[in-house]
Amino acid sequence: MESIYLDNNATTAVAPQVLEAMLPWLGARCGNPSSLHRLGAEAADAVGAARRAVARLVGARSAREIVFTSGGTESDQTALFALAREGARARKARRLVATAVEHPAVLEPLAHLAREGFEVALVPVDASGALDEQRFVAVLDEAPCALATAMWANNETGAIHDVARLGARCRERGVPFHVDGVQAVGKLPMRLFDLPIDTLALSAHKLHGPKGVGALYLRRGVPFEPLLYGGPQEAGRRAGTENVPGVVGFGRAAELALSSLDQAGRVAAQRDRLERGILASVPGTRVNAGGAARLCNTTNVLFEDLSGEALVTLLSELGVCASTGAACATGKQAPSHVLLALGLDEREASSSVRFSLSRMTQDGEIERALEVLPAAAARLRALAAPLSALSGRAGQG
Ligand code: PLP
Repeated sequence: MESIYLDNNATTAVAPQVLEAMLPWLGARCGNPSSLHRLGAEAADAVGAARRAVARLVGARSAREIVFTSGGTESDQTALFALAREGARARKARRLVATAVEHPAVLEPLAHLAREGFEVALVPVDASGALDEQRFVAVLDEAPCALATAMWANNETGAIHDVARLGARCRERGVPFHVDGVQAVGKLPMRLFDLPIDTLALSAHKLHGPKGVGALYLRRGVPFEPLLYGGPQEAGRRAGTENVPGVVGFGRAAELALSSLDQAGRVAAQRDRLERGILASVPGTRVNAGGAARLCNTTNVLFEDLSGEALVTLLSELGVCASTGAACATGKQAPSHVLLALGLDEREASSSVRFSLSRMTQDGEIERALEVLPAAAARLRALAAPLSALSGRAGQG
């Protein structure tokens, strides 16, 4: 049975054109970009072409502003550590400002910096997922800030932050602004040259590129310190032999994503069809952050009195891949901090399931998922009913 893949915010399939572009670099084209011979020069040229493609996708002023990394996590951590330490050194600033709904790739480096003596201030979001901008500004004004950071789009709900406005508030105050763009890149048009964003993290595997490769956009002139020291690769900004096949794949994926941005409307129509279909056919459902400006491909649905994990497991058996919150958090059983930040209680957060589409999603797959879902939810509710009667409470937690 072919799976219907509705978990594209966790990762995406490598596009066939990306695989084709990568294959030679896994075989005969084996050069190290730092080598002087012909194979080395070819590899360096290929890395350069990929850098230009990624720069075009995000609208960077120059390809030199793109540093290749091992993925979104490394890019976030590199930027946060560099900006925080520079802020402490140059301006004696110890406060780090972030939103309450950031990915662990941001929250965990911030927690690490807090153990070094920085103070982390998390700005709340409202029930729709919108950031409290007044609070954001108040937090910036209360104490000298080394950096502020906000994700462009949330991985669990798809809610979009107005990073242009937030960045402008930071720039007025001379506070560097980092953006986690991992979910937004390739889904939203970007003109970074024209935006008050200093650093931006991106990752190839969210846009039909390979896993284990990403990039950090580093605006020209932003003070920087590498995370990894060693060889002079990436103009001294990230040591280690380049992942040439991965970088080439990322470059091809960036070209394809740029030329596919106009498909966002079609993907949004499929997402809306799925969402409306679920709300109409499964009682006790509602969309989390449904009122927010959202990515075209994401919906996060609360199924009352139902375990999200049980539903995801049953759907998987029935050939539909979905997810409970962030992939990195599954297995931990902890309710999503993003959904709790929206005001859901623990039970509601544990009853929520994310469906995320991509430009490769077919209309027929949405229809098939809609055939399977109502019966799956009904089956789980029927199973849960006698148990809850026994324990004297409805549903499960
Ligand atoms: N930031 C966000 C918003 C993400 O969704 C993810 C991955 O799920 C990451 C960062 C981490 O990216 P990577 O898997 O490339 O390390």
